[in-house]
Amino acid sequence: MRELLAGVGAAALVILLYYESSLIPLIFLGALFLVLLRFTGLKAPPVNTVGRVARVKEISFNQIGGQEVAKKELLEALDFVIKPQQISHMGIRPLKGVMLVGPPGTGKTLLARAAAGYTGSSFISVAGSEFIEMYAGVGAQRVRQLFQRCRKKAQKERRNSAILFIDEIDILGGKRGRHSSHLEYDQTLNQLLVEMDGLGGGGDDLHLLVIGATNRPEALDEALLRPGRFDRIVQVDLPDLEGREQILKLHLHNKPLVEGISLEKIARETFGFSGAHLESLANEAAILALREERKTIAEKHLLEAVDKVILGEKLERKPDPEELWRIAVHESGHALVSEALKPGSVSQVTITPRGKALGYVRHRPERDYYLYTVEHLEEKIAVLLGGAVSEQLVLGSRSTGSLSDFNQAVEIAKKIIAAGLSGLGVVSVKELPGALLHRTIQQLVGAREKWVAELLSSKIELIEEVARLVLEKEKITGEILRRQISAHRQAC
Ligand code: ATP
Repeated sequence: MRELLAGVGAAALVILLYYESSLIPLIFLGALFLVLLRFTGLKAPPVNTVGRVARVKEISFNQIGGQEVAKKELLEALDFVIKPQQISHMGIRPLKGVMLVGPPGTGKTLLARAAAGYTGSSFISVAGSEFIEMYAGVGAQRVRQLFQRCRKKAQKERRNSAILFIDEIDILGGKRGRHSSHLEYDQTLNQLLVEMDGLGGGGDDLHLLVIGATNRPEALDEALLRPGRFDRIVQVDLPDLEGREQILKLHLHNKPLVEGISLEKIARETFGFSGAHLESLANEAAILALREERKTIAEKHLLEAVDKVILGEKLERKPDPEELWRIAVHESGHALVSEALKPGSVSQVTITPRGKALGYVRHRPERDYYLYTVEHLEEKIAVLLGGAVSEQLVLGSRSTGSLSDFNQAVEIAKKIIAAGLSGLGVVSVKELPGALLHRTIQQLVGAREKWVAELLSSKIELIEEVARLVLEKEKITGEILRRQISAHRQAC
């Protein structure tokens, strides 16, 4: 808005000047323009404000849990920095850039900081978004100045090498030509390419290594990834079971834990968590223990913290008894389908409203999966449908509580089709006529719904028993659920 106002003011001034209008409106407009400038704070942006100058605490690779492959690849690249004689003897060209690619919170920034510590380099960290301004040329100038600052900082600290870490590099290094409104993005990226091409040449005593980080590698301009620039791409994925346990250990080491807690058990409950999620889990568990005025963190605090990290804070709002009964029936349905398909798979059933969820069943993956068979995906759809089918069978109607389950079921069905696992065979989902795609999704989901209805129609009593238990306790563990199932079996 302020840009628009300033632009209109300036244009009016120019037009009036051009037509040699009387001086009074001119003075008036000039004053108005100055006032606009004053109150909108519009002034040329500073060019050298990029980069965190605050001293970052040095960390070592030992303080990063899991990520063994990423660490190994990065360390190998860093040896190029600390053994310059060896690489020049072998005629290897110096490494200029390393690109860390992976989901948010997996430790890319930590790896870059550890890289600086390992190589004894000076370190500057910036974010791609700090470069982009509406003013053409500012971003490019900032890039130029940033490289100069890196050199000066290393000189001042008497270091032979410097690491420049650019987080969210996709903002600064996105594919050129995408932004048609102005060339600012392209100019900024061009300047980065120029600076990188200049590294390692002209008798530069300093080895400057640029480490980029992104979670959208597909958005990067190809020129950035071409050999001689970001030569090495290091994948920083979500941690596996072992990695999660290590990260938990790291973040809990300074917190008082009850003796004998199995962190492996907690790690099993946290499939899909990033390092940042795990750090938050450790913190939340400590807060929960403190709230209960405990001196040590118990397993129940850690497990509750898992829920909190997945779903958010417990909500004060309380559904009325009728709604609560429906929620309990719904969640029991999910849980019973899951146990029927994979005994031991439910970790917890709860009707405590958290975040957007009114109730929740936490499943326990017995291992980390890297690929899924069609049977596995169909089972997931069945578990998702268990809530709605259960409501239908016990209460005679369904509710909007199943909306998110249905959305997820449709997404899984789409995945089955895209992976060539449906009756359509190998197809391009993009080219598929909408009606055919819709029909195939309906068939896939419909077949599972029929199966779940058959399964649960013989378990109506059990659904009610479990729902009553959940309603009474608010939360039951998988063990209690399984005890109820076997008690019911014996009673029949
Ligand atoms: P983004 O892509 O969002 O910038 P990132 O991958 O750079 O995220 P970091 O900033 O390195 O993630 O991690 C955020 C926090 O999560 C860290 O400060 C640390 O507490 C924790 N963390 C993430 N990964 C790990 C790990 N592998 N080991 C220990 N802690 C981790």
